[in-house]
Amino acid sequence: MLVSRICRRRSSRLVAASSLFLLAACSQAPTAADALPGSPAAAATEVIPQADQPQSFEQWQAAFRAQALQAGIRGEVIDSAFNGVSPDPSVIQADRSQPEFTRPVWEYLDSAISPVRVRKGQALLGQYADALQRIEQRYGVDRQALVAVWGMESSFGQFQGDKSVIRSLATLGYEGRRPAFAQEQLIAALQILQNGDIDPEHMLGSWAGAMGQTQFIPTTYNAHAVDFDGDGRRDIWNSAVDALASTAQYLQASGWQHGQPWGLEVQLPQGFDYAQADGSLRKPVSEWLAQGVKLPPGTVLQPGLAQLQANLLLPAGYRGPAFLVLDNFRAILKYNNSSSYALGVSLLSQRFASGGYVLGSWPKDDLPLSRTERIELQTLLSAAQYDAGTADGIIGANTRKAIRSAQQARGWPADGYPTHKLLDSLRQGQ
Ligand code: CA
Repeated sequence: MLVSRICRRRSSRLVAASSLFLLAACSQAPTAADALPGSPAAAATEVIPQADQPQSFEQWQAAFRAQALQAGIRGEVIDSAFNGVSPDPSVIQADRSQPEFTRPVWEYLDSAISPVRVRKGQALLGQYADALQRIEQRYGVDRQALVAVWGMESSFGQFQGDKSVIRSLATLGYEGRRPAFAQEQLIAALQILQNGDIDPEHMLGSWAGAMGQTQFIPTTYNAHAVDFDGDGRRDIWNSAVDALASTAQYLQASGWQHGQPWGLEVQLPQGFDYAQADGSLRKPVSEWLAQGVKLPPGTVLQPGLAQLQANLLLPAGYRGPAFLVLDNFRAILKYNNSSSYALGVSLLSQRFASGGYVLGSWPKDDLPLSRTERIELQTLLSAAQYDAGTADGIIGANTRKAIRSAQQARGWPADGYPTHKLLDSLRQGQ
């Protein structure tokens, strides 16, 4: 279960979906720290026979070899990488499982910003102060954010995944749910080996091919990994300095604005139009304030913030805390397209300096719908003429729009957030 949740989280990054705040199952994913190597879910599973598997692994491998040669990978690099490689049943098991339950965002944040992680991050900010200063100067990304991503991705390098990346990706390329994507990653992984950054034996990662302290997939590695400690190799596995600089390079390329905050918590006035909490709706902070959105008592707007573009984020619907989020929040979403993840990184980075406390209260009586319930909600919405798109259990833009319409028809606040109350109402045909 844990592994499959990680799967969804990774998948959302892999496809780099453009729609923001896609509160899919992955958005309440556990932290990378939960991806303990050799967890029970990943162990002792059997190969699931596939009736429609048209070719043997050896046949697939031969065809892939030709493809890799064509992509410019040398034969000896391919042969050494594939030496003794067989499909990994635990990878297929993880790829095919769907998490039924998701953690509420407040519980996810509690573990993302645990006191142990905060203390460790603070110590590392001191330990790596010189390198972080040079990285900040070079890439313009704030050091607290880099250390927060590092903590979220691998618990500061502690949990990187212990699977052979070549074996995992070969397994997924052969019989995974998205073989073309896995094969593209596998070619990229072979390019890394050919470049000499790491050898096959030490190229380890998650079952989905996320590697090292930054949990980069191979194409992200090729685009963004850097050698910052100057040893000639981009070593995101063993060099914290390389990992931090690579994270900075990626965030810079994703539109990070140096010195800007990720966003701010706000309070919404009575009768507010909650339908405006939509990832596609951005307007200047000043316009939100003109609409009656308020800063919490005792806080003031930083200079220059008023004209910045912001989205309104309601991570737990209208009953929970509200945030205006800026460019840097969007940059974190490019790292991992989950608003819970981005909120976790953002609050953790502030907590290193004793900030990042959420003032609004979470609706703890409003637990997230299970996957089965989300599918039922989508099915009932569509049956009631609110087109929720494919009933896949993922609350994307279409489903959110359908929820808003159903909420509006009932005279409820139209925040687009899936609740048990709405599900019950639809079940009763009200
Ligand atoms: Ca290096």
